[in-house]
Amino acid sequence: MHLSKLFEKNKISSPGKTGKIKNLFLKKQIFSILYHNERKTIADLCIHVGISIPSMTRIMHELMDEGWVSELGTGESSGGRRPMLYGLNPTVRYILGIEITRKYTRINAFNLQNKAIGNTLRIDTELDNAPGTLIELKSHIDQYIEKYNLDKKNILGAGISIPGLIDKKSNISYTYPNLGQKPLDVIFEDLLKIPVYTEHDTKAMALGESWFGLARNRSDVLCLNVGSGIGLGMIINGKLYQGFSGFSGEFGHIQMVPDGELCECGKIGCLETVASGSAIVAKVKQMIESGTNSVIRKLVDDKIDNIKLPVIIKAAHHGDQFAIELIEESGDYLARGLASLIHLLNPEMIIIGGDIAAAENLILDPIKQKLNKYTIGRIRQDAGIFISELKEHAVLMGTIPVVMNRIFSDEPYGNNIQSFNKS
Ligand SMILES: [Zn+2]
Repeated sequence: MHLSKLFEKNKISSPGKTGKIKNLFLKKQIFSILYHNERKTIADLCIHVGISIPSMTRIMHELMDEGWVSELGTGESSGGRRPMLYGLNPTVRYILGIEITRKYTRINAFNLQNKAIGNTLRIDTELDNAPGTLIELKSHIDQYIEKYNLDKKNILGAGISIPGLIDKKSNISYTYPNLGQKPLDVIFEDLLKIPVYTEHDTKAMALGESWFGLARNRSDVLCLNVGSGIGLGMIINGKLYQGFSGFSGEFGHIQMVPDGELCECGKIGCLETVASGSAIVAKVKQMIESGTNSVIRKLVDDKIDNIKLPVIIKAAHHGDQFAIELIEESGDYLARGLASLIHLLNPEMIIIGGDIAAAENLILDPIKQKLNKYTIGRIRQDAGIFISELKEHAVLMGTIPVVMNRIFSDEPYGNNIQSFNKS
């Protein structure tokens, strides 16, 4: 039986004791080790998997015949002949990453060495709940697949990140896109005809940071996603924290300003209404319309509608005092919220990600400064605060662990999407 049988979603869930299924699970274990380690000798693999050298040699030959594994030269000798190193054929399968946000969708595919195979395709569309949204999404994905000549049979799975409230138990989205009572995986699998694994966007970001970014091999990290909204991905005790229904991390909706503005969630004065990208943009528009002098006006050729967060950040980097002050103000509010989290969770690291990350020290410094004011020093000193090195790529990169963790864990809907610590 070919290894690909095992990647048919939720078909085979138990390794069995003997025979073909056991053999398949051994292959999957080897696949997992080689995926995480790139290259291993047969002797190394035997130690990890616990089978004899002749059995391993036979299985490796089968994997080579099936195209999964290649010989990758020789390793260090421990006395005798130099041993052969084996690794995955990186292009035998692909992972399709799809990042859906309220304002745009980004698509790219990755090989088994986690390298992007093309340029990220970005489609600027407002995410509404009309049925047309899905049809449009499908046509862009099909175009991407065609452009890079991918065979759908070779896509191990699509990892899709989605904003808003997603119930982890039922896999139903309650905000954007609100597609009724069907599980998201099923909706997207019907649409795309490939295995699909979905995850909340900021949780995908935290997974991306854990596998490829600053949170690698760290166990207590908070990942802040400040874009049009504000989300929080929490790695606690080395695991992505989901909460009872998966609704954890709605950091943007803690109240910051009593009697403040109405938030999209229906509550008043949420952190999002004063510190998110949308809040900064709204303030800039309002103040420029009422005559405030700023370089931003020039940067958008007087077209107020074209004011977006990246333009404001650009103006700030050019020294525009108005833009700098607004970003600082956002940092102050974020620090007030983060102070509670630091006292509550004692994280070792806080990563500032999302669109705001482009502001670099202009957002980082005010957050650090205000945290010194709002937190108890002894707890504060544990928490290193950094701008994401993955920046805007964190969520899309995070769709890789969304797929691979689920493939390796055999869990429906991935309630336990762990083991990101690469050995
Ligand atoms: Zn809110």
